[in-house]
Amino acid sequence: MAEHVYRTGFGYDVHRLEPGNQLILGGVTIPSDGIGTVAHSDGDVLAHAICDAILGACALGDIGTHFPDTDERFRGADSMVLLAEVQRIVEGAGYRIINIDATIVLERPKIAPYRTRIEESIRTRLNLGEHDVSVKATTNEQLGPVGAGHGIAAYAVAMLRR
Ligand code: MG
Repeated sequence: MAEHVYRTGFGYDVHRLEPGNQLILGGVTIPSDGIGTVAHSDGDVLAHAICDAILGACALGDIGTHFPDTDERFRGADSMVLLAEVQRIVEGAGYRIINIDATIVLERPKIAPYRTRIEESIRTRLNLGEHDVSVKATTNEQLGPVGAGHGIAAYAVAMLRR
């Protein structure tokens, strides 16, 4: 039966921001005056949200299921490698990624100058087309912990075809 089935998935992630860390988004290192994400891995909050969106579309668990942060193998892990592994997992289950849309929520620095580079980084890693990955950014209007600059959040949706 060659009937195509389309499925959507949603992902969310948040990390604390503290001095002495790197800020990596979609595999791109963002100049941030030494303020970056606190994490077991490289803290790429965007890659993590996208991983969860892709896995969620296939009901194949979440990033913690596949790469537990209690596992020393994933200490300092390159999250873009994990993202490629997530793609391998879902393709093994018969799915193809159609498109990804994501929003980063961060007070500073401004992400706009890096937005297209981040999109390119993700779509290159996943072998997707030029208009298949969208990354947007917004501040939290100084509201709450993210608005106070204590953290960064990312939301993502993914559409997959079986
Ligand atoms: Mg995370």
